[in-house]
Amino acid sequence: MSAAYPLLPPPDETRRQAALDAYAVVDTVPEQAYDDIVRLAVTLCDVPAAAISLIDHDRQWFKAQIGLDARQTARSEAICERAIQQPDRVLVIEDLQAQTEVPRPAIKIDGDPLRFYAGVPLLSPDGQALGTVCVLDNKPRTLTTAQIEGLEVLARQTQHLLELRRYAMEQRRLLSEREAFAQRLEDARADLQRRNDLLQHSATHDALTGLLNRAALAQLRENPDAMLQLQKAPYTLMLLDVDHFKEVNDRHGHLLGDRALRAVADAVAASIREHDVAVRYGGEEFLILLPETRLAAAVQVAERIRQRIALAPLPFSLTVSIGLAAGEPTRDWSEQVFDRADQALYKAKSTGRNRVVVDDTPLHHA
Ligand code: GH3
Ligand code: MG
Ligand code: MG
Repeated sequence: MSAAYPLLPPPDETRRQAALDAYAVVDTVPEQAYDDIVRLAVTLCDVPAAAISLIDHDRQWFKAQIGLDARQTARSEAICERAIQQPDRVLVIEDLQAQTEVPRPAIKIDGDPLRFYAGVPLLSPDGQALGTVCVLDNKPRTLTTAQIEGLEVLARQTQHLLELRRYAMEQRRLLSEREAFAQRLEDARADLQRRNDLLQHSATHDALTGLLNRAALAQLRENPDAMLQLQKAPYTLMLLDVDHFKEVNDRHGHLLGDRALRAVADAVAASIREHDVAVRYGGEEFLILLPETRLAAAVQVAERIRQRIALAPLPFSLTVSIGLAAGEPTRDWSEQVFDRADQALYKAKSTGRNRVVVDDTPLHHA
């Protein structure tokens, strides 16, 4: 027997260990299915001890055991180590005391040293020996052919259990990979949505004042829902133009001019309701649409805006002119109402600026 057992690990020990590692079974908790197998082995062979032994680096570790006083031993004293050197054979040692080449394990059965050993190698699908299903006794004995065949059956069942374990782990890995992939996909989608929202926002908003821009106004006019609202109730259209703004720029510079425009926008935004629409539609020209608002109420809003601008924290005084026109649900706001608000604005300019002027064209003339 001695010549058959090399003292150094065989050259494919790396692959063998990798095959065992792939099951990630060493150091796991006891499991009924494996315990049942050693129980069956003990009954089948009528021995006091049995184990599912796995050869891991420099130790043998028992996934299941009966009748042994340790959960693992040094590999150097593992008889199973000898068994896996000939993976296609069942190793039976009827009396260990008669074998000088086989190590004397320190492990005990009922306090006695081992005398009998029979081990069937456990193989991975590609033939790597992982360990054994083994039966042990503290006295010499033999096994019948039927008992040896039964042990081989138990070894195959153990291999199935290990394969199942690896399969389940692989499924879990694939599942979490899929989940991670789905998460990445969702992240990318959300990122795209964010960029799209940003793009949409910058396409419809004026960068200087944060109000809607001309493009947004055009979109609004093409939006049937928004237009429907104007066809349901009287509304007011307001046009606001900063007075002598060219002079502001000329005197105080473009930067302060920009600040003044932001102050105008802030005053507008602070004076209107959530559903009102404020648009910077020209350099220093603003359009404010007040749905469901009659002229009288709109004039108050306009006055508020004008006064807020007059009080704006700027190093110079700033005034605005505002023209208002009423929109009746039965009429098209976009052309006639705009023209009338523009005429009112013109009147505000021509009569001294810094004022709110209401279009007074009789409705039936429009
Ligand atoms: P009026 O009282 O008749 O409205 O006179 P105005 O000077 O305000 O009118 P005008 O149309 O002659 O001048 C508007 C000025 O607004 C000219 C332009 O340089 C300035 N302007 C337009 N857009 C901006 C901008 O984004 N920033 C700054 N600082 N100035 C702007
Ligand atoms: Mg202007
Ligand atoms: Mg102006």
